[in-house]
Amino acid sequence: MAQDPALTYLRHGQSPLFRLPVSIGAPPPGTRAVLLGVPFDLGTTYQPGARLAPWHVRRVSALLQGWHPVHGVDVFAEVPAVDGGNAAFPPFDPGAMREAVQGEVSRIAAAGAAPFLLGGDHSIVLPALRALAKAHGPLAVVHVDAHLDTSGPETWGEAFHHGTPFRHALAEGLVARDALFQVGIRGPWGASTDADPSRKHGGVIVSPELVDAEGAGALGRRIREACGGLPTYVSFDVDALDPAFVPGTGTPVPGGLTTREAFALLRGLAGVRLAGMDVVEVCPALDHGEATSTLAAHLLYEGLALLAVEGRRRPGRAG
Ligand code: MN
Ligand code: MN
Repeated sequence: MAQDPALTYLRHGQSPLFRLPVSIGAPPPGTRAVLLGVPFDLGTTYQPGARLAPWHVRRVSALLQGWHPVHGVDVFAEVPAVDGGNAAFPPFDPGAMREAVQGEVSRIAAAGAAPFLLGGDHSIVLPALRALAKAHGPLAVVHVDAHLDTSGPETWGEAFHHGTPFRHALAEGLVARDALFQVGIRGPWGASTDADPSRKHGGVIVSPELVDAEGAGALGRRIREACGGLPTYVSFDVDALDPAFVPGTGTPVPGGLTTREAFALLRGLAGVRLAGMDVVEVCPALDHGEATSTLAAHLLYEGLALLAVEGRRRPGRAG
């Protein structure tokens, strides 16, 4: 399950994620990570287009190589991984999307592998969390985003969209108590009560200013300690980053994280027991110079690197 060499990738004219083998359906024995596109953006409340991200990110991801100089590990040698293709469903049917994603993620988890989802908008995370909580029990969740995504039906008259997945996840008991970490959150909000769902669950909300004050790497290490041995899911909405770094996203908010802070945060999580990850809200039509698609590929790579160094986990909170 190694990467294809660069010349083989050129010769084939195809671009699976990170030049990995393509494997649709049940992953081959020994697979530790399955990358899965979810081309869905009917959950967007503003600018749509995230459904095309899997194709764009696949293409630019061919540039990435295996050796991670910070962790000191060859990610693709350490983590047998495949490109699992895309979840397939009628693109205008949110219920069909949820069913397809839950089925795919259940299958991946049952094979002992971790899913790495590439959205799509953030509404794709709910069926993934449902499948993973069923497989592992309640999860620790590291949610990197400008937005809390714990909105209810009162705003749009609809309970399921990209602003609501964590409201459902908390209500359904998919997230362990005191194990929700929301990083990059900023305003303006609808009301002072917007954070109530998270806070009532013991959630920790970290603004970009607080990331600045603590340092992203230190914050990542603190979150890793707090997650302890719990199976942990990382949900990465690229609008957590400042629009200066991420032009290609549908609901931008100024004042966000830098690219280096995002990497430092993820690297600080090293040792976490990673159950899965997503990168969502990449909108190629709004992107410039492929900056956002390239970032998304690197974020997925950082997530795979966390799997590669998982054995370095330190003892902590029991899962
Ligand atoms: Mn989001
Ligand atoms: Mn967001």
